[in-house]
Amino acid sequence: MGKNKCGRCIGCESDHVHEECGLFGVFGHPEAATLTYLGLYALQHRGQEGAGIVSFDEGHLRAHRGVGLVSDVFKPHRLAGITGGHAVGHVRYSTFGTSILKNVQPLVVDYARGAMALAHNGNLVNAHVLREHLEAEGAIFHSTTDSEVILHLIARSKKGRFVDCVVDALGQVAGAYCILATNGFEIVAARDPHGFRPLWLGRKGDAHVFASESCGLDIIDAEWEREVAPGEVIVATDSGIESLRPFQSVVSQKCIFEFVYLARPDSFLFGRSVDEVRKQLGRNLARLAPVDADLVMAVPDSSNPAALGYAHESGIPFEMGFIRNHYVGRTFIEPDERIRDFGVKIKLNPTRSVIKGKRIVLIDDSIVRGTTSRKIIKTLRNFGAKEIHFRVSSPPIINCCYYGIDTPHREKLIASSRSVEEIRAFLGVDSLVYQSIEGLVDATGSPAEEFCLACFNDRYPTLIPEDFQGGQVGRRHVDTSTEPYEKLGVRS
Ligand code: SF4
Repeated sequence: MGKNKCGRCIGCESDHVHEECGLFGVFGHPEAATLTYLGLYALQHRGQEGAGIVSFDEGHLRAHRGVGLVSDVFKPHRLAGITGGHAVGHVRYSTFGTSILKNVQPLVVDYARGAMALAHNGNLVNAHVLREHLEAEGAIFHSTTDSEVILHLIARSKKGRFVDCVVDALGQVAGAYCILATNGFEIVAARDPHGFRPLWLGRKGDAHVFASESCGLDIIDAEWEREVAPGEVIVATDSGIESLRPFQSVVSQKCIFEFVYLARPDSFLFGRSVDEVRKQLGRNLARLAPVDADLVMAVPDSSNPAALGYAHESGIPFEMGFIRNHYVGRTFIEPDERIRDFGVKIKLNPTRSVIKGKRIVLIDDSIVRGTTSRKIIKTLRNFGAKEIHFRVSSPPIINCCYYGIDTPHREKLIASSRSVEEIRAFLGVDSLVYQSIEGLVDATGSPAEEFCLACFNDRYPTLIPEDFQGGQVGRRHVDTSTEPYEKLGVRS
């Protein structure tokens, strides 16, 4: 509870998709750990359950990891102990494995060639298969994360250079990954061939910087160099940057939900400004579903740009109808059942003078279970809203994500089994219109073929094993343009 940036999960059953993880790394700067700490701060929205930084100082590994927010985990004396010129960091939301300390990343191991650390963003769809093979051969796992499989595969590789061992390991996994791996002498950054998750390469003076989103580069005044390409492996060493393309190329399948909700609006990813895409989503929605109303308002904060776009396109004024309390921390004490129903209001409170007697266009970026939306709408009614026209800037979510985004089970997704009219009646609004898939893709400025849209259209770009242990159940779609599952297991 109370674990995401949407601000709607306190006092209610979690009712939003959750971010996956954030990566940050610095190679070649005397303040590498401090820069990484700042970078993780900027990426906090991608994971609030744990944070960690690992550095290497003259061959000695320094690490600190903990459960909680970056500001909870890192106190000045902790940060001062993480010395050295190279560091990798991670913020975690547990999409796989639980949120206990041993799962907090970067994962660190000693192996035959020394020490190494790994930070992973994404979700491997064949991790359980690989793990079973490895355990059958005697491997001992210390965590329940899918990421640890990659460490084992690196350690077992017979290749020469560290980067080649990493490539060897990644060649055996399937699904979504961006990783930062280091042995203290180099940092290897990699993005899976489908490019589900974003990863940036930047520069600060002579140092090379990696970040999940460009906002992580901005906070340390690093220059944006470029996004790491799908399937690209970059190795940073004292000799500079080397780019490798070791994997067979496939059609990219970038996660379109990064644009809808996950990424920060001040970030730039997949070649576009997130803020611009969200505003365009609002404009497209206004064209698709115009309505006569007095004001447009957002469910803050992630829906603000889409609401502004809707307002610009429709000519209906934008108003701050909800005020969000930004100061409700993780230590918030959940009230007793008898008064728990005030849930949403602890973070979102309507401005009575804005709402009363008005015909409202309410913009939200998505509806997951619908339970929180219903409470929000009930609150608006209680504050005197005359009409509520609900507009959703993404299409109905009909299925789960297997690529690193935490979504409820399929049967908990309201749009998986109910019609739009049934959802409208459940929410208690005067009208309800979702974004079309065409409108969603149009807002990105890129062709649909470049994106994963599986949670909206049920077409998964990789095969999902029937016994996938991500805790989610959904129908499987095989896109025959991608690798067959038989190739995804451990090599014999
Ligand atoms: Fe993103 Fe949805 Fe695809 Fe998951 S299924 S990667 S959330 S578009």
